[in-house]
Amino acid sequence: MTSPTCLQPYIGRFAPTPSGPLHFGSLVAAIASYLDAHAHGGQWLLRIEDIDPPRCPAGASDDILRTLDQFGLHWHGEVIYQSQQQEHFQHALTELQRQQRLFYCTCSRSQLKGQQIYPGYCRHQHHRPTIPHASRIRAANQIFAFKDLFMPAYAENLAQQVGDFILQRKDGPYAYQLAVVVDDALQGINHVIRGADLYDQTPRQIFLQQCLGYSTPTYGHIPLIMSPQGQKLSKQNLAKAITPKQAPKLVSEAIQRLGQALPQALYGAPIKEQLNWAIKHWQRQSVPNQCMDPVAFVD
Ligand code: GLU
Ligand code: ZN
Repeated sequence: MTSPTCLQPYIGRFAPTPSGPLHFGSLVAAIASYLDAHAHGGQWLLRIEDIDPPRCPAGASDDILRTLDQFGLHWHGEVIYQSQQQEHFQHALTELQRQQRLFYCTCSRSQLKGQQIYPGYCRHQHHRPTIPHASRIRAANQIFAFKDLFMPAYAENLAQQVGDFILQRKDGPYAYQLAVVVDDALQGINHVIRGADLYDQTPRQIFLQQCLGYSTPTYGHIPLIMSPQGQKLSKQNLAKAITPKQAPKLVSEAIQRLGQALPQALYGAPIKEQLNWAIKHWQRQSVPNQCMDPVAFVD
């Protein structure tokens, strides 16, 4: 078995989906994971989650790498691209199949319309159909719980509250849930600091980790930044791309949003000075635990 987390060297990561350029919301998540890793003498790895090519415009990954670099967020080691990890995902899927946890789902979108939880129509379909199909995992009728570094502890019964979920889509790509769990394990990630949009996805990931014999990282979810219209900042609601010209000010804004008391004299100062201060003074307990107010200049 694995040794307690406190005895392992800290390995954290930032794992953006390159569906567009970084915006202020993703910058805050990047800076939070960077600061938490560095404040604990850890490594901060970068993984590009380009698992779903049609959602990833050409050049978006390079753009993210360049932007992180311009914002002084330098990562350790090689960048991992999920598009190149297919055989690992397949390997994990085969293992889950061997454990007889998977079934083939041929339900159409219209059949599932309006259902909050997958109704289990294909639960007993263990032979590969000849028509297009997804692979789902039978959700355990069990509570999965975790403590969070910033938000309240969370628990949910997967079978009752989530249902059987997809690990490989009908049109081919492996699902985020499978990819994130396999790659976090392969990269030895033991601290996951990310946006609160993934808070309630964590029990699914813990379930998969347990099935696959992986250890569960420590999780910390950063409250989301809302747009002035009250939506999560995302590429979908057209949060503006961040530009290097605004970098010192945006880094200050991000550090403050994370509840850290950046001295006035450092507001808008060279990025390196700000990040060094924030690493030295990083206080997990000061990170807010609810949604953050809109930021006027990012929307
Ligand atoms: N790729 C996901 C995103 O950009 C993040 C995944 C994760 O941090 O677990 O929202
Ligand atoms: Zn089905």
